[in-house]
Order: sequence, then structure tokens, then C-alpha cells
Amino acid sequence: MMMSILTEKGSPESVRIVEMNHSTSIMLDTALTCPRCDSNQVVKNGKIHNGNQNFKCKSCGRQFVLDPRNKIIGQETRDLIDKLLLEKLPLAGIARVTGVSERWLQTYVNTLYTSVLKDIEVWPKKRGD
Ligand SMILES: [Zn+2]
Repeated sequence: MMMSILTEKGSPESVRIVEMNHSTSIMLDTALTCPRCDSNQVVKNGKIHNGNQNFKCKSCGRQFVLDPRNKIIGQETRDLIDKLLLEKLPLAGIARVTGVSERWLQTYVNTLYTSVLKDIEVWPKKRGD
């Protein structure tokens, strides 16, 4: 309806701008990235049994559900955190700069170190007794 009004009084160019704005707003509505391939070609895919919104990645077909208790941290943020960790900044500072929770950051760091320990067992294990 909006498009036909613009077409009547406007040039084809103005219609194209409307279409661009339209797709931009769609992207903002679904400002999500796929946890597998990081694509933002993510669409809503109905709801799962507990009522949570289910999403599907159009690039790789991965389906996933957003858990509000577990905010998805994008790859860019993770890369930034990795760099900041190398600078030996305090976790609280990194959490403030990157906008993640300290609790999430602590879990992330633990996961990082766990995978490092698994890969190359250079650090002696500390025994509890
Ligand atoms: Zn994907």
C-alpha cells in the first residue's frame, strides 16, 4: 500500500529506498546470528514446547532457541575478550568494556582454560589435599 502511493507520486528511486529501509528494519528485528556459522540469515521458526521462540539459520539450517538466561555473546565480542585477556586486564574490567556479565566471563574463561589444559597438558594439576 505504501509502495503504490510512492510509485504514483515518486520516482522508481524512492521506491527502492523504501525497500532498502524495509529490509533494514527486518534485519534489526532479527539481529541474531547463527551459533554455528555466524550468519545473520536467521528467521523465526515457530515455538518449541515450552513456548520459547525457535529460530532457524537459512545459511546452514541450524535450529536454535534463545535462552534469556544465557545471552548469546557474538563472535566479535569473544574475539575482543580474547584480546583483552591477553592484556591481563581484570575480568571485571573486561566485563564492563565488552558488556557481558562477570559470571558469563568467568565461565567463558574457565572453558577456555579447560580446553587449553585438555589440548596441551603443560600446567600441573593442583590437588585438593
Ligand atoms: Zn548457520
